[in-house]
Amino acid sequence: MSMKLLTKLATAIADGSVKIVDLTHTLDPDFPVIILPPEFNQCARFRMEELSAYDHRGPAWKWHNLTLSEHTGTHFDAPSHWISGRDLPDNSVDAIAPEQFIGPVVVIDCTLGAAMDEDFELTAPFISDWESNYGKIPNGCWVLMRTDWSKKSGRNYLNMREDGPHSPGPTPEAIRFLIEERDIRGFGTETVGTDAGQGGHYNPPYPAHYFLHGAGKYGLQCLANLDQLPPTGAILLAAPLKIKDGTGSPLRVMAMIPGGNT
Ligand code: MN
Repeated sequence: MSMKLLTKLATAIADGSVKIVDLTHTLDPDFPVIILPPEFNQCARFRMEELSAYDHRGPAWKWHNLTLSEHTGTHFDAPSHWISGRDLPDNSVDAIAPEQFIGPVVVIDCTLGAAMDEDFELTAPFISDWESNYGKIPNGCWVLMRTDWSKKSGRNYLNMREDGPHSPGPTPEAIRFLIEERDIRGFGTETVGTDAGQGGHYNPPYPAHYFLHGAGKYGLQCLANLDQLPPTGAILLAAPLKIKDGTGSPLRVMAMIPGGNT
């Protein structure tokens, strides 16, 4: 009699025939957060305050208080993050059904374009070309835009200039294609947002946020290690913290990929 499915999965993880890839940056005070124009409120960087360290403040224990935004570090965007998703049901992180947090993922490699053009656009024809190589993007799939942007650090990560940040992202047509023609689960990037640095100049502004969240889809940003994922065939685990009415959350994002012997 064959092993049960979940027993097989546990065995495969233990013996390395299914590998786990961590797509998360370490929460660190030095990791950049998005910077908005000065007339708007700003997102907090990660901060850690020591409460005790096996000392007079707590002789047998060490612990910290944390300060951070819902959108600090590697994080999840819920539909309520954007005005287009404001009135959708179950639009906050605490209300999303847990089944949504585990699903298939495809990775679209944009590294060549992003290396040549800091404002590289993921277009609908680029996605069609990708599909002609790897097959149609399945319904309910996460789509990740690989740019290797996660290998940048410090000032190069936000890449701020006089006219604002410069980093790659999808066009409005590309995002609409993924939602309307492919019914994806969500869209993820290695940059600080799901939109391009200059995404405010599209119509509508910040089209990934506008269209994804208006359609009840999710976002992931500040992802890392996308170079370790296959284009298709992986499973993504992305479960935000259960924050009441939360519009997003830092989280540990992991992928299950086929290991060496499969
Ligand atoms: Mn966000």
